[in-house]
Amino acid sequence: MNLLSSAKQRLRRTIGPYIQAMGYATGLMNLDARLRGVNGAIVLMYHSVADHTLSRWIDPRNHVSADIFAQQVSFLARHKRVIALDELVVAIGRGQAVQEGTVVITFDDGYLDNLTVAAPILHRYQMPATLFLPSSYIDRGETQWVDQAYTAFQRRSERWLRWETGVEARWDLGDPEQRRAAYWCVCRYLLQAGAERRRMLLNLLYERLQPTAKPPRLTLTWDEVRRLLSDYPRFSLGGHTTEHLDLTAVPGGEAKKELTQCAQRIKEETGVQPRHFSFCYGRTSEPLRCLLVEAGVEAAFGACGHEPVVNAASDPLNLPRVEAPAAMDHFALATSIANRGLWRRLGR
Ligand SMILES: [Zn+2]
Repeated sequence: MNLLSSAKQRLRRTIGPYIQAMGYATGLMNLDARLRGVNGAIVLMYHSVADHTLSRWIDPRNHVSADIFAQQVSFLARHKRVIALDELVVAIGRGQAVQEGTVVITFDDGYLDNLTVAAPILHRYQMPATLFLPSSYIDRGETQWVDQAYTAFQRRSERWLRWETGVEARWDLGDPEQRRAAYWCVCRYLLQAGAERRRMLLNLLYERLQPTAKPPRLTLTWDEVRRLLSDYPRFSLGGHTTEHLDLTAVPGGEAKKELTQCAQRIKEETGVQPRHFSFCYGRTSEPLRCLLVEAGVEAAFGACGHEPVVNAASDPLNLPRVEAPAAMDHFALATSIANRGLWRRLGR
């Protein structure tokens, strides 16, 4: 990336949210949406809905507090029509218009707090939701790699981190800027790695940072997934690979295995054949479409795009979602069809 485009991106990230918030508050974005004839649903993406006992173990990019979540659900109950993902997919498949104000709720990664915290709140309002599960993490009840890395940094007992990045990098973690750079770099390595290499890298990170604690189990087990489905029948399941991999970065054969084995494990453990899928890190590609079709997937979610409205004109195998803001500010904008795409972590 050249200097100019990275400066442009930084500027967009800094002032973009304010411009959008202003455009929404003044009614300009609504007017724009009406003039363009926009209609359809917004699909919200959540990860963890953590209470205060657990949030310190979770990368803040991946959680909304229980209190904020309750406020968001109450807002949806008052102002929106929340429907099941299946209902939306059937409607757009039939080419039907989707009523304005329609919202769908989804959760990625299979956090245990989806059962203990989020589900009871949604149940109060009789709202449906879909959980996208990375099946091998559920098999092992393993905390997501990003939260393992986050804890290693938070609970480190070493001040310096050495990391081989082609040339050897060494960061002083006592310096906030260097700590941030180190965390991003390590996360990038972990994200790009396959399952085995990722485990090796996490071990290396723990060896080098000597954290004083490991995170508790933050991920559901299959027993808990079954309990979720029986206690909260408005929940449905979808696939999210087996090892939480970027499928655009692995060979076609492995990507196919990730898709089919994930669906198979969900079916074996719950009796439900998942028909929906969400790509890890929102990364998808044209060749992956064929694999989705072969695997019988009816709807799949890709990146959080700049046109986040889902309607009959949307590509069912590359649907957009909106990352739920971690604060109440901007939630009305996030769930409005006037939303032209929110910058990641708007409102954090
Ligand atoms: Zn994920």
